Amino acid sequence: MKVVTTAVEARKCINALPSDCTIGFVPTMGYLHQGHLSLVKRAKEECDYVVLSIFVNPIQFGENEDFDRYPRDFKRDVQLAEDAGVDLLFHPSVEEMYPSPLLTTVQVKKVTEKLCGAYRPGHFEGVATVVSKLFHIVTPHRAYFGLKDAQQVAVIEQMVRDLHFPVTIVPCEIVREEDGLAMSSRNVYLNPEERKQATILYRALQEVKTKNFATAQEINQFVREKISTQPLAQIEYVETLAYPSLESIDQIKGERIIVAVAVRFGKTRLIDNILLRNGEVFDA
Ligand code: AMP
Repeated sequence: MKVVTTAVEARKCINALPSDCTIGFVPTMGYLHQGHLSLVKRAKEECDYVVLSIFVNPIQFGENEDFDRYPRDFKRDVQLAEDAGVDLLFHPSVEEMYPSPLLTTVQVKKVTEKLCGAYRPGHFEGVATVVSKLFHIVTPHRAYFGLKDAQQVAVIEQMVRDLHFPVTIVPCEIVREEDGLAMSSRNVYLNPEERKQATILYRALQEVKTKNFATAQEINQFVREKISTQPLAQIEYVETLAYPSLESIDQIKGERIIVAVAVRFGKTRLIDNILLRNGEVFDA
């Protein structure tokens, strides 16, 4: 595995590949876990050459968010990436990605207005901008994104369509801990009691499948009540929307829907979701 820190070095490696070599790309913020590694595994199955980026992107964090204390362990990440069979690890500095004040950004409308977009102003502009930059550096044929961040998948798919990026976006299933908690780099922040109570997100979402709800409002109310049984859970949002358009819906009529939640446990903000059609989980 080659490790590079500049765009020029990354381009050099990519330009040296045979012209028929397919490039798979997994963008991450590091502190790797099995969720990230499942994307690498899928990329390896489908592509000849796999690029992993590790970059904690400052412009997607709000002023009061956790950029400074976001967990980082580059040494461990290098080992995990190597073991997973990554070919090129791109680990740029903030100065490398943003050498001068940024006067150009990518703004995706509508799909960024709901869910996390409503609570994290500027977040998806930061994400779309950095992913555009990374796509230009890495020039992947296929790029792998986890459905843990289902809104991010919808935003990137929209951006790729609108701006004709020559890349196929591959949404990948959520990888979970044994007790159902969605894997996340931020889970390390949880204290033992918060960690225990955080499983309610998965349990509440799973139960939606077993009921025959008629409206989005009924689903939201049910999930809210379930999550509220845990005293440390502070709900930011519980929303049921059409997916991937993220348009509001009223009656549930067999369309593809997302039930998405964001919940704080102490200082830690967790998100989770389930994608459903007629009560069945569907592949995005
Ligand atoms: P992050 O490092 O949190 O920015 O995540 C990098 C990529 O890994 C994103 O596409 C995430 O959606 C994906 N990812 C993070 N956690 C999981 C998980 N538990 N299961 C599947 N994909 C994940």
